[in-house]
Amino acid sequence: MGSLSGKNAVVTGSTSGIGLAYARAFAAAGANVVINGFGSAEDIEKERAKIEADFGGKAIYSPADMTKPAEIAGMIALGEKTFGSVDVLVNNAGIQFVSPIEEFPPEKWDQIIAINLSSAFHAIRAAVPGMKKKGWGRIINTASAHSLVASPFKSAYVSAKHGIAGLTKTVALEVATHKITCNCISPGYVWTPLVEKQIPDTMKARNLTREQVINDVLLDAQPTKEFVTSEQVAALALFLCSDDAAQITGTNLSIDGGWTAE
Ligand code: NAD
Repeated sequence: MGSLSGKNAVVTGSTSGIGLAYARAFAAAGANVVINGFGSAEDIEKERAKIEADFGGKAIYSPADMTKPAEIAGMIALGEKTFGSVDVLVNNAGIQFVSPIEEFPPEKWDQIIAINLSSAFHAIRAAVPGMKKKGWGRIINTASAHSLVASPFKSAYVSAKHGIAGLTKTVALEVATHKITCNCISPGYVWTPLVEKQIPDTMKARNLTREQVINDVLLDAQPTKEFVTSEQVAALALFLCSDDAAQITGTNLSIDGGWTAE
């Protein structure tokens, strides 16, 4: 019996990177999972089937677009209808865009606020009634070191992540007496497609080579000089789902190689 046997989890943005690691960690602990995110149908089906083959629980896919509130509500409803409940919700979908503010495209601002912040509001809003009814729930938001500190050229991302930290605290207070916790996890740099994709624009914005961006911008932020791994982030999320973590709520947990200690 895994620690999440009989529980059902929805993880947004879980076709890749940190989200996929969360989904796999929850499935390994015995949960059924709803995965979500973009990608080729073939790749997504491969990951979904692999979760079932590796861990034995059920994994289903929701194609909900995190910019669309009705689709987000539909994703929670799909989890409830298929599995009977959504006990664990991880708001993780996110994108990045790097540009000086005076050139930052307004539509990119809107898209980042929608995916990285508003989608969490819509998903939590839809999932909380079911969690209250069951008298148990875990809500985990993937924030970022950028929920605590800023970096230049990431105005939308830093604003959304600071917003997620505030949303986390607010929801934690609202659901505190229902055995539902709400926390956010704030990773430093984790080597995922999101980080890899921002390297060319950072090279341009800061006039640097690829190696300089990796060593002098990304790893420079982290005193350990190492990337965080997706599996380490997922292990922290799994702990937050445990009974030992029942009194951890409203917190912003850093996993950033010491970045925000400086
Ligand atoms: P990633 O690019 O590997 O994964 C992002 C996921 O979000 C993918 O599954 C993608 O399909 C999905 N997604 C994007 N737009 C979507 C939309 N409109 N609707 C539904 N799904 C959508 O990135 P990652 O690094 O694994 O990032 C996951 C989360 O972790 C993000 O919130 C990110 O801000 C956060 N984070 C990442 C790092 C890092 O260094 N990688 C650090 C701190 C925080």
